Formats: sequence, structure tokens, C-alpha cells
Amino acid sequence: MIRGALAAFALCAAGAGQAQTSYVQTSRLIDVAAGRVVTNQCITITDGRITALARCATPPNGAQVIDWRGFTVLPGLIDLHTHIADVGQSADIDDPIKKGPAETAFIGAKNAHDTLMAGFTTVRDVGTFRVFGDVKLRDAINAGLIPGPRMAVAGTYITIPGGGGEINGLPEGRVPPEMRFGVVRTPDDAAQKAETLFAGGADFLKLIATGAVLAIGTEPGQPELTEDQMRATVQVAQAHGSYATAHAHGAEGIKAAIRAGVRSIEHASLVDVDGLALAKAKGVWLVMDVYNGDYIEAVGTKEGWPAEYLRKNRETTDIQREMFKKAVAMGVPLAFGTDSGVYPHGLNARQFAYMVKLGMTPMQAIQSATRDAAIVMMRDKDVGAIAVGRYGDMIAVKGDPLADIRLLEQVAGVIKGGTLVR
Ligand SMILES: [Zn+2]
Repeated sequence: MIRGALAAFALCAAGAGQAQTSYVQTSRLIDVAAGRVVTNQCITITDGRITALARCATPPNGAQVIDWRGFTVLPGLIDLHTHIADVGQSADIDDPIKKGPAETAFIGAKNAHDTLMAGFTTVRDVGTFRVFGDVKLRDAINAGLIPGPRMAVAGTYITIPGGGGEINGLPEGRVPPEMRFGVVRTPDDAAQKAETLFAGGADFLKLIATGAVLAIGTEPGQPELTEDQMRATVQVAQAHGSYATAHAHGAEGIKAAIRAGVRSIEHASLVDVDGLALAKAKGVWLVMDVYNGDYIEAVGTKEGWPAEYLRKNRETTDIQREMFKKAVAMGVPLAFGTDSGVYPHGLNARQFAYMVKLGMTPMQAIQSATRDAAIVMMRDKDVGAIAVGRYGDMIAVKGDPLADIRLLEQVAGVIKGGTLVR
């Protein structure tokens, strides 16, 4: 049975000498590059990539026709800050260890499915405690074993001992070595770890530049990795044609990470105006997760998450939203990332309404999760727009999300690589 299924997939992927073609009919299509709506366009997808975008006419011979004329069609969404390869947040800090690798992998498969069905056809997974669990999940999706979004993965966190990328607060020796792989003490150490992560299949690096809300004994405002440690990893990443992104809440840690050469800053909750100006001057993207603070407050309180987490969440939520507003006004590069895993996977689109409330136009919010997110990932030849040459990844929404952004929370159809998956 399994051999048969895999063989069928292989035939499908290879095309068996015959191209697989889909033809998607649309009446309203959001052109995110130009920031406008175009009408009566039809999209031809051949062997996964878009080969034509033109006024609707007769479908190509043998094409699967998908009639999406009753919807608004837009590119598959991208979330730059997910944790789909991990077990998710709960009140029990020991939970990621108790679950073990096999259970964690199954949970990851479900998370991947839920994320794809919500219209997120690409994600950047910015950290798993169990080193390379994310690589395995990405590869399983790419091999067609399980449904899921296209993934770019970090391998694990690069963090100082006891830092924001560690599981803290447990007895000495409780955390197994494979869940402390990215712990570094010097710039040389950091560079070496970075090399090992790329050798193991990481696509980019995730640095923990400050303390974290959801890590015991660390403070979001406090710098952690030094500028030199971060610079050492950035150089390794660049040598691999890649980049590093930094988790950073505190103003000093944010500026140190930017000076060290990172491509993006995650959270940026306590960024100051100098930090915003520096990010803008250097073209560094801020990925500000402005939704999940409400989720942590509501569910974390109900479920009894550690009091320290709830306190730090309150200390970062409102100020992050204020600074997001300022960033929009200043024209700082902002891209879409939500920290899924803190809240249940599949609810990612809830963040759009927050971004619009905080000053973005609906078109800007959509661009931040398509065109711009693809640029941050260095994947804008592949994803982020419905354009010739890119993967045939797109979603259908009932009604007009430019008038009501919350419609993105109810995706009606999903196509990934030309295949209708929802
Ligand atoms: Zn995160």
C-alpha cells in the first residue's frame, strides 16, 4: 500500500512525461505587487509553477479547471514566525520533554495540516527545542508524505545558557542534550554551531538576542547573545547565501542585532524610536506579533500558565502595539509573523485585523504576508505573488478582504503548487 502510494506520488511529481496543468478562473484577483485588484484573469499552473496569467479564455487541453469566479483570489499567505514543529505552549514547562520525539513529530504533522488549511502555504519556522525536528517536518511535506505549507526552518535556537531559547526552570539534567543543541558561549562557538545547523539542513539561523516572555528566568528587556556572537553567526549565514533573524524584545538587544547584520527582528516589543530609525536605515524587517498577547492573557490566565509569563506578556503587549503604530507611520519595513504555537495553529490570520487597527491599510497588511514576507525569506522568485514563474500557491476568500480584513480568517479554498488542497 505504502509503496503504491509513494509510487503514485513519484509519478505525479515527475509528471511521468506529461505536464500536470491546472487552470484557475478568477473574477477578482489581488495583485500584491501593484497593490490593486484585477478582474477576469485566469491562471495556468504547469507542474507546480505559474506559466501564464492572462484574460480568461479557453482552458488548455487536459487542464484541471478550478472555478474561483465567486471569490476574491490572492496569493497563498506567508507567516514568518511559526513554531509548527513543536508541541505548543501550555501551563506545563516540562511538556516539550515529556512528549518525546515521536509524539512531537505527529503533533507537528497536525500543525502543518492546520496551517495549510488556514491558507498559509508558506511559513518560516523560527525554532524548535528538539534540534532538526523542523528539518524532518519540512522534508516530509516536500516528499508528499503529509500535507503542509512550504517551510523554511532554523534547526533550533542559538541562545546563551539559560537564555530565552532554553527550557528553564527544571531540575539540572532534565533537559536532554538534543534540546540544548544551540546553546553557545563565545563567538567561535556560535559560528561553529551555525555551521553545524546549516550542515544539518537549516535554511536560516534564529538568534535569541534578548530574554523571552515564555522562558523562565529571562527578561525581555535584557540583552542575551552579544553583538560579536551574533555577528559571527551572520557571517556564517551569509557564506551559505542565507541570513539570520533575531528574537529581540528589548531596545538595546534590537539595536545590537541590527548592527550585527541580521535580516529581521522578531517581536521588537520594546523597540525605541532610535531602533525604528536604525531598522529603516538598514532595511531590516520587523516581524511584530501583535495578536498573541491577547491570547496569552485570556487562555494563559485561564489555564494557569506561569505567573512570570503572564507578567512579562502584560509588560510587552501594549507597548509593542504602540511601537507597531509608530513603525507604520515611520515607514519601517514590517512583515507578517504571529508566533503560532503560542496560540493554536490555523488561527494565524487573526493578526491581520490587529495590524489594520494599528494603522496599516488592508492592502498593506496583505502585502506584509505575501510580497514582503517572501522578500524577507529570500524566496520572492518562488512565493509571495500570483505571477509567472512562482509556485501556484493561492487562496480563495468569500467577499472582499480589502473591505473586511477578517474575511481572511475564513479561507474558502487553498491551492498549493497547482493542487487544490481545500
Ligand atoms: Zn516564537
